[in-house]
Amino acid sequence: MNTVFLLLGSNLGNRHFYMHEAIKLIEADIAPVLKTSSVYETQSWGKTDAPDYLNQVIVIETGFPAHEILRRILGIELVLGRVREEKWGSRTIDIDILFYGNDIIDDQELTVPHPGLHKRRFVLEPLAEIAPDLTHPVINKTILMIKNELKDDLIVKKL
Ligand code: AMP
Repeated sequence: MNTVFLLLGSNLGNRHFYMHEAIKLIEADIAPVLKTSSVYETQSWGKTDAPDYLNQVIVIETGFPAHEILRRILGIELVLGRVREEKWGSRTIDIDILFYGNDIIDDQELTVPHPGLHKRRFVLEPLAEIAPDLTHPVINKTILMIKNELKDDLIVKKL
């Protein structure tokens, strides 16, 4: 079994509804959710005139390979009617794989640990809430250390 950290994000429509539905579908299609961070509201990254996001980190434990998790995640995003017309465009739900155990994966479909996670406060705040001592297998620092060194000053508030 592998411990997998996922990031949920929504900035379109009934954001809370989409976050709840995503968790229900993850439990139905992938694995029970063992732990969840609080929900955070964050300024949109990259495209700052877009609506604010809700973000939440969840933990599952699964025997599925990482690419199978990705396939199932993309299916859930489709079911929840994600609309994405441009890079960083608004979306009903976005699900990213942050960590897959200690594995390092880098191919055409998947980069794990997620390449943006150590630079973004909207990931590190919820992640540090539930896994401050987790060591990033590429950077070799704990989540708390990475968060404390972070320069990203977008506003991220716990709801
Ligand atoms: P986006 O919706 O912008 O997050 O991009 C989704 C695409 O990113 C997926 O189709 C994946 O092939 C690719 N991808 C690469 N690494 C990851 C990851 N760690 N988690 C989720 N998607 C990833």
